[in-house]
Amino acid sequence: MSKEKLKLTISPLAAFEDNYIWCLCQPDSPFCVVVDPGDAKPVLQFLQQQQKTLYAILITHHHHDHTGGIAELQQVWPDVRIIGPAAEQHAVKLLTEPVWQHDTVTLSPFDLRFQVIDLPGHTLGHIGFYSEPYLFCGDTLFSAGCGRLFEGTAEQLYQSLQKLATLPGDTIVYCTHEYTLANLQFALTVEPENQTLQAYQQSCQHLRQQNKPTLPTDIATERQVNPFLRCENKVLQQRYQQDSAVGLFRTLRSMKDRFKS
Ligand code: ZN
Ligand code: FE
Repeated sequence: MSKEKLKLTISPLAAFEDNYIWCLCQPDSPFCVVVDPGDAKPVLQFLQQQQKTLYAILITHHHHDHTGGIAELQQVWPDVRIIGPAAEQHAVKLLTEPVWQHDTVTLSPFDLRFQVIDLPGHTLGHIGFYSEPYLFCGDTLFSAGCGRLFEGTAEQLYQSLQKLATLPGDTIVYCTHEYTLANLQFALTVEPENQTLQAYQQSCQHLRQQNKPTLPTDIATERQVNPFLRCENKVLQQRYQQDSAVGLFRTLRSMKDRFKS
């Protein structure tokens, strides 16, 4: 890891009820980058406090709670790069750099290069940005949960999550919603005997009591606590009378849709 990368700070800016807008900064750089600014206000406030200029906006998908602040931020910083999914350009009209799977996004002020990963399921054009060890995955993977199926099929979302599950265990996962406690309630109904899950719930409850984010998470943790990454587990497949991982994924996703915490 380069010296620059070690100095990168990634802060969650709270927006709406439970969104996080992740903000990338470096102490010696005048620039910041934000991911999925659904609201401009927290970004404007934070950058003013920090005396920074907005260099780029990364967008994972077209939903308003991830894109609603773009126009106002562009008014303040007309040269800001706005990078997001080419497949959703019809819905995110302000993109200045539409990107596709395997494209590389270079953020020169931070010496960072992100790989674009296609993550269809929650929406069809949903993408993630990956630069070892950082992953920004929007509404695809949450801690102990995953996004809802608004546009894609269960197969598509399952495959997208599998792509993320196979990243290195120490990958740091920056999800865009604080859904962890509700997700854990559901996860524990699926696997009440999972001791890692029980311990994880305790530590997340503790964080929330102190009003701290439960995020970011990491891939190694998610492999152990996230039911949607555990669909290969034969015991779980049997428990829900499924003979495939995708079948179990579809079953769990629709159970979660109906689950009342
Ligand atoms: Zn969404
Ligand atoms: Fe969202």
